[in-house]
Amino acid sequence: MTGEIFVFVDEEELFNLMKDLDCLYCRNPVTASKHHLKKRHLRFAIYYKDSGIGKFSIPCYCADGGHGRSHWHCPMCTKILQRTKDYKIHITNHGVEMTDKSTVELQPTTVLLETLQTDNEDRTAGNKSACQKCGIHFTTTSNLRRHERLQHGHDQQPMLCIDAKNAIYVTPKDLHGPRVPIHIRKSFALQILLCELEECWDFMKAQAQRGNPGKECRHLVRTNHARHYVPPPPLCVNSLEEMTDKHLLSKSEKQECQEMNSRACLEGVDCVYPIFWEEHELSERCIYFSVYTDLKDKWCQFGRTRVSFDTKSGNWKCLCEHKRNHCVHKYLSMWWLFQERPELLQNALDINTESVDVLEEVVLDAEDVVQMSPGGDDLC
Ligand SMILES: [Zn+2]
Ligand SMILES: [Zn+2]
Ligand SMILES: [Zn+2]
Ligand SMILES: [Zn+2]
Ligand SMILES: [Zn+2]
Ligand SMILES: [Zn+2]
Repeated sequence: MTGEIFVFVDEEELFNLMKDLDCLYCRNPVTASKHHLKKRHLRFAIYYKDSGIGKFSIPCYCADGGHGRSHWHCPMCTKILQRTKDYKIHITNHGVEMTDKSTVELQPTTVLLETLQTDNEDRTAGNKSACQKCGIHFTTTSNLRRHERLQHGHDQQPMLCIDAKNAIYVTPKDLHGPRVPIHIRKSFALQILLCELEECWDFMKAQAQRGNPGKECRHLVRTNHARHYVPPPPLCVNSLEEMTDKHLLSKSEKQECQEMNSRACLEGVDCVYPIFWEEHELSERCIYFSVYTDLKDKWCQFGRTRVSFDTKSGNWKCLCEHKRNHCVHKYLSMWWLFQERPELLQNALDINTESVDVLEEVVLDAEDVVQMSPGGDDLC
């Protein structure tokens, strides 16, 4: 079953995949009619969000499962899991977020109805409706484009300029899971072409040796559709005072924050750049910040580090791990959040008090959790 599709964004995609053919997901030959797909597969579908996009997986009954037993193929690695519960844990570890069917962005049945209604307006002509890569037909161009993007990795990941002066951008590291940002630098004027990831260095070096100097890694190429620099709301001293009054920061921590902020200001860059991939996007669980460090090191090659805040667990993380308990970058990000989105900080505080219930659930599932997720349930 390698090369098959195990993740879908709407029912139409699944129906069109095997029109009038035998079901690819059943061991014994059976026509993949809508009735069959609904009864045997869609009824048990698992819904989740991957990078904010609603998707679903269906159970498979192919020979890989042995004796036609139902099983799940992971769409992100090659693993096959027998138990639905294990499959859910497995893909959660890839970074997707389980969604209740009622809250999923794409309600398969509604999507189907909408497709039928808009059919006449958006119908594509002839060959244009078929995917060039796998031949699946679609009734609308938008569905075809979505299929191309999701199934064949047409990379439309965002790229934001966060420092125009030094030509620094941020972009998600991976195509799947939480959109963890990495920094890149690209400027033709300055003759700079750099990606933070070591694997990308290796890739570009190897390409240069093969006679392709200037070949860009998968992140650098995204600058073609980069969003221009937009200044974020600047940090204000008043909000920092308020934080110290509320004992969220000590006097020395406050001092440190102010010093770092002034050094960034002197350099003419933003001390804290909050990374919201899309405008007003708050549906994602983790919030990321690019923070000025005033030094260059392995963990901050371009003079900036990454701080993440998990809005569910309330945990903060910074790339400068060696200063675990004392990290000015976290305080600076907290300052920005306290000033601009205080409700998000409050959410985390509220949830922390309920964590006893969560712990109990974890204990019940301890076997699986320990096996599948050694890092606990932190997402960022
Ligand atoms: Zn089937
Ligand atoms: Zn299978
Ligand atoms: Zn997997
Ligand atoms: Zn295709
Ligand atoms: Zn790269
Ligand atoms: Zn730090």
